Amino acid sequence: MRYISTRGASEALTFEQAMMTGLARDGGLYVPEDLPTLTHAQIADMAGKSYEEVAFEVMRPFIGDTFTDAEFKGLIAKAYAGFGHAARAPLVQLAPNHFLLELFHGPTLAFKDFAMQLIGQMFQASLTRSGDRITIVGATSGDTGSAAIEAFRGLTNVDVFILFPYGRVSEVQRRQMTTPVEANVHALAMDGDFDDCQAMLKDMFNDFAFRDEVRLAGVNSINWGRVLAQVVYYFTAAVSLGAPHREVSFTVPTGNFGDIFAGYIAKKMGLPIADLVVATNQNDILHRTLETGAYTKEGVIPSISPSMDIQVSSNFERALFDAYGRDGAAVAAQMADLKSGGFEISQGAYQMLKDTFKSGRASEEETSAAIKTYLADHGELLCPHSAVGVHVAENHLGTIPMVTLATAHPAKFPDAVKAASGISAPLPPRMADLYDRPERVTRVANDMAALQALIKERIKV
Ligand SMILES: *Cc1c(COP(=O)(O)O)cnc(C)c1O
Repeated sequence: MRYISTRGASEALTFEQAMMTGLARDGGLYVPEDLPTLTHAQIADMAGKSYEEVAFEVMRPFIGDTFTDAEFKGLIAKAYAGFGHAARAPLVQLAPNHFLLELFHGPTLAFKDFAMQLIGQMFQASLTRSGDRITIVGATSGDTGSAAIEAFRGLTNVDVFILFPYGRVSEVQRRQMTTPVEANVHALAMDGDFDDCQAMLKDMFNDFAFRDEVRLAGVNSINWGRVLAQVVYYFTAAVSLGAPHREVSFTVPTGNFGDIFAGYIAKKMGLPIADLVVATNQNDILHRTLETGAYTKEGVIPSISPSMDIQVSSNFERALFDAYGRDGAAVAAQMADLKSGGFEISQGAYQMLKDTFKSGRASEEETSAAIKTYLADHGELLCPHSAVGVHVAENHLGTIPMVTLATAHPAKFPDAVKAASGISAPLPPRMADLYDRPERVTRVANDMAALQALIKERIKV
């Protein structure tokens, strides 16, 4: 299996190369050249299997000969061993035809752990084999950073630098990034918002001299390995609700479009998904785009679901690439227009997107109201992101079972949850001392030269 860039001007790579590279040199994102499909019988056979077994079957066709079957099974086993629930991604029923997929039982209490824990294992296996040393730089609205640090802390051939927007992440998120004591972990609080952090990251990747000098690698959801790991839980959830004999729909709290894009891949692989619903908070650029066909940036307004406070959704480019019939030049032209504020999607591409994705938004009031109602009426304490999801899902319920993805644990956003529900969500016992551990963080300006100097200083090149 080969991986090609969404902008059509980089050479095709193997799975291992695409994973270690992150962003393509033409600025695009890697996608598989052809998608493998699973037969009805193969999907039916997943019933009753463990998360790890299904993970192996779903991901195996994508990794080529990067790992042997035995190696890959070992990496999957290690990746999910630290999860606090035997099912890894348990389903909870909310209402007759509405289910919640709890993706917050990993070490940092958000769904990012599903991909990051596996990426950590795969990077380590690959680097041990090659003897290379790499520098991971990631941008985060809160959860990616903590998940990346948790996955890479203490590894010998990796330094991990995480840029997060100063003052715009929750205290639990910040502490998960600033309290690890390992010397290879570098938490950087940058002046600006998440889009500034993400733009800085992209600029660093596009500075090829720097990129080569520090052996830069990326673990943001631009990394194909991240998307791939997230495809798995669509299969486990749908199969436990009767797929492939029955259709299932999903609603996904969305920011960077990585998680919902994984659902789209699952559907293209043969999983009978009826609706894929994009749920946004008040930063509703994706909802507006699907309503109007115009992708127009506005400012980010901080919300109580900060991991979705975003205007430039990286992975949307992967969907656009398919919508444009895999015409990399067309995608590159649209992305150039995005730099100056936005673009208009062509009629054919827009139609494809509208046929594939539904959407909705939740205001701040609606998000808080959902937290309150779901606790009172369904006994379920939701994090604000998951609450955005259930609010939007309510408008799409019908005869087909709906699964809303619960993307984080309520304890990760205690202030918003308390304000909405009156209840404090306690941290799980294994991280109960988070508030007592000393923090280590460097405040940095939105200045690429200064940041590059700091990174080189820290890794001594
Ligand atoms: C990252 C994140 C999201 C958004 O996921 P994308 O893949 O970026 O769309 C939603 N909720 C939580 C809690 C997150 O951490």
